[in-house]
Amino acid sequence: MPDPLSLLRHVFGYRSFRPGQEPLVTALLEGRDALGVMPTGAGKSLCYQIPALAREGVTLVVSPLISLMKDQVDALRESGVAAEALHSALPEGEWPRILRRLRTESPCLLYVAPERLETPFFLQVLESLWVNLFVVDEAHCVSQWGHDFRPSYLRIPEALARLSHRPPLGAFTATATPEVREDIVLRLGLRDPLVLSTGFDRPNLSFRVERPRDKKAFLRDFLGPRGSRSGIVYCATRKAVEEVCAFLRDRGVGAVRYHAGLEDEEREANQEAFVRDRAPVMVATNAFGMGIDKSDVRFVVHYNMPLSLDGYYQEAGRAGRDGERSECLLLYAPGDVATARFLVGQAEGEEARRQGFRKLQAMVDYCHTPRCLRGTLLRYFGDRDVPERCGNCGSCDDGTELRDATLETKMVLSCVYRMGERAGGRRFSPALLTKVLKGGLDREVRSLGFQELSTWGLLRDMPREGIRDLVDTLAAEGYLALSDDDRPVATFTPRAWTFLKGQDRVLLPRRVPRSRAEGFWTPREEAAEDLFETLRALRRRIAEEQGVPPYVVFPDSTLRALC
Ligand code: ADP
Ligand code: MG
Ligand code: ZN
Repeated sequence: MPDPLSLLRHVFGYRSFRPGQEPLVTALLEGRDALGVMPTGAGKSLCYQIPALAREGVTLVVSPLISLMKDQVDALRESGVAAEALHSALPEGEWPRILRRLRTESPCLLYVAPERLETPFFLQVLESLWVNLFVVDEAHCVSQWGHDFRPSYLRIPEALARLSHRPPLGAFTATATPEVREDIVLRLGLRDPLVLSTGFDRPNLSFRVERPRDKKAFLRDFLGPRGSRSGIVYCATRKAVEEVCAFLRDRGVGAVRYHAGLEDEEREANQEAFVRDRAPVMVATNAFGMGIDKSDVRFVVHYNMPLSLDGYYQEAGRAGRDGERSECLLLYAPGDVATARFLVGQAEGEEARRQGFRKLQAMVDYCHTPRCLRGTLLRYFGDRDVPERCGNCGSCDDGTELRDATLETKMVLSCVYRMGERAGGRRFSPALLTKVLKGGLDREVRSLGFQELSTWGLLRDMPREGIRDLVDTLAAEGYLALSDDDRPVATFTPRAWTFLKGQDRVLLPRRVPRSRAEGFWTPREEAAEDLFETLRALRRRIAEEQGVPPYVVFPDSTLRALC
């Protein structure tokens, strides 16, 4: 049996293995199942191609995209490796030739689309092949919690069962949270697999979230200095793709479009133009990108917020596969959240919707967090020992100014507390909370009995979007919990109690231009008075809970100091 290192050198022409490759190769060679979780561009293909060459027989690779398969097969053939692909775009007449080759040539790699696994004919063919290694690429497609669920991936165990003996099973993905990882192991039926994750950090990518008033103008200004460098602009809908692409073309940017509503011909031509550097900017829905082999994408802009961090990181990760510095920018507007909630609410099944809303909340939190964005992403994907600051993201950039938001935070939390008291445990949305803080007095406010609280208008002088942003930021920071459904409700968290009782200060990034920030918000006297009352009520409650007199909890003077 040829050894892996000599295959790496002589067949693929590389000097040494990259991190994670060797243990995965060894596991599969020794007949052990394996799950490899490595970022895009890390080199997952070699992890199964080398074992495929070192073992006799056929290696079956399930791969979700035709373009992906074609690229791989072409590259393998160029290296002199026998490889075939079976998918719907293949003329029927080709089948006999391919089958003959599979039965006579060894080793040989066979790439198949997951849908093939559902056809009785193919399952019969499988029974007659000597499959010695079974590979599932983009394995997160098997999980409903992932962002690219493909139902036909669920047929994989059935296909495996058709084989005369069960070969080792290798699964590979770039994006997998711990729960998606468990789901992959469970649904594919991996047996005592080697699970290897190289960590998710992509140090050459910088991350930034911006909330421009005019996204189009912002995008134009962003693209200007980047000239002819390649980049992708992801939009949430086909309509947005059309608008943004037309807008950029009108302003002389060489942009092309891509979405599922276009004719195949145009899609292919546009993709080709982008990959061959004839068009620097690709404006697309998330239908574009998987399997696109372009390593010098210098920026990925999300014009709308995606539905999950899984999807976001996968798409943003298409930047900088060559290891050069590249930018990932997300343009956030609170309106994106409503659209996203609507989309998640369309999912089949209650559990799927609940998970969807939970993932969406993590995405919204990312847009609001004052913390290191890279750290937020990496922790979400289960990386441990993530540094507090990475020095290469919007939050870590020295330019980000923090402002003391302790008082506003107390206002918001005390309002939540009061509303909870008044409403007798009834639930209320961040939108309603915002309205009451702003001092709105409409029918909803009156019917729920909040008019008195609203008359105070605790944050009356702050712009409404500013209040809503603050509420969302406090949720991202864990002071408020937003429930996992399409009508989120805000509730108190233990952290909010601790904060109200303590002397901690809250620092949040200043998100308004400096000129407007000066004198941005000054508390009114009566607002401070109201806060004092709230804290006294809070103290009574704590005292009751602990069975001690209120002054033991803390004296009036402390409360005054807090206000
Ligand atoms: P992934 O599937 O993890 O996104 P690929 O398998 O497509 O990544 O590999 C990305 C690129 O890295 C390819 O161009 C591949 O040839 C290259 N590559 C893989 N392994 C090595 C290695 N050990 N040394 C140098 N280049 C490698
Ligand atoms: Mg790959
Ligand atoms: Zn950072």
